[in-house]
Amino acid sequence: MQPFAYTRATTASEAVKALAAAGAGARFLAGGTTLYDLMKLNVERPVSIIDVNALTELSHVDTSGPNELVFGALARMSDVAADTRLIRDYPALSESLWRAASQQLRNMASVGGNLLQRTRCAYFRGGEPFACNKRKPGSGCAAQEGLDRGHALLGGSESCIAVYPGDWAIALVAFDAAVDVLGPKGERTIPLEHLHREPGTSPEVETVLEPGELILRIRVPVTSVGRGSTFHKIRDRESYAFALASAAAAVQLEGDTVRYARIAIGGLATRPWRAREAERSLMGKTLTAETARAAGDAALHGARAGRDNGFRIELGARTVADALMIAKERASR
Ligand SMILES: Cc1cc2nc3c(=O)[nH]c(=O)nc-3n(C[C@H](O)[C@H](O)[C@H](O)COP(=O)(O)OP(=O)(O)OC[C@H]3O[C@@H](n4cnc5c(N)ncnc54)[C@H](O)[C@@H]3O)c2cc1C
Repeated sequence: MQPFAYTRATTASEAVKALAAAGAGARFLAGGTTLYDLMKLNVERPVSIIDVNALTELSHVDTSGPNELVFGALARMSDVAADTRLIRDYPALSESLWRAASQQLRNMASVGGNLLQRTRCAYFRGGEPFACNKRKPGSGCAAQEGLDRGHALLGGSESCIAVYPGDWAIALVAFDAAVDVLGPKGERTIPLEHLHREPGTSPEVETVLEPGELILRIRVPVTSVGRGSTFHKIRDRESYAFALASAAAAVQLEGDTVRYARIAIGGLATRPWRAREAERSLMGKTLTAETARAAGDAALHGARAGRDNGFRIELGARTVADALMIAKERASR
């Protein structure tokens, strides 16, 4: 047990000030389902925890506005997943939450904390003696020579090939979501597509958040492309498992012809991955099993296999293709 200080903030600015005052080893606490987990593994060792659960204004969800959907960072995954407008008009968003974790976890976990969950790479979570540049910068990457079945095919570097594990961010990236954050220098907005970094030579820096920045809310522009959407997740077992490959796909059709397409893939890359080349490959085309598969191949363009993970290139392409056909069926209703 590592001792740590505990503070319960009552406003967002108080939380940000408390975190800044506590210094580098401080963490915000939302549902705790990532943070406590990693503390028990001795991977996270915060000296100070700033509990933000009393910030009730951050639990607000509004999916009825004409321009955007708003999800307070502290809204619980299960509440957002069950939102009736989301289920009807943006099934990919709702499904990405339903297909994550377990009901108990979804009842605790916040949609803001979800974005910042950390990789499930066994060498990261396993601690010593495994080398992990993300956990201990400069120590190496045991996955490069180790068991890489679940590791990234896209966006990796010599320093790190750990997969970004979350589902919600994949669906959000497909819908051009953004996050509003509050930090010591004030409030700013970050497109979700730019929130997470590729590892490069500094895999320990996972996002573009500045020290002490608190996610306030997630905003998604209203779009008619949402109805024809799905979050398709392939895993080793049907429930309560992370993705081997996933795809958020949304299409709008004129007849059988694609007018708009949105595709993002998960479980395959070091960050949430928008597949714009795949989207472009569909524009103006008839959506068939063949064009969907070609889009799947385009989404995986540039994928680099290691020792054991090469099968997920084919799996990823098929996942995208299947997601597109599900989206087509919904868009045609
Ligand atoms: C067994 C298990 C299975 C899981 N399966 C899946 C799965 O299949 N798919 C999936 O997507 N997820 C899965 N998860 C991950 C789970 O969804 C996340 O742990 C959860 O969403 C994190 O939210 P939280 O509120 O508990 O975050 P916390 O643990 O409280 O925080 C996580 C991190 O985010 C920071 N943080 C939290 N809120 C904010 C904020 N508002 N602003 C800035 N920083 C913040 C914290 O400091 C911490 O570093 C699983 C987790 C477990 C334990």
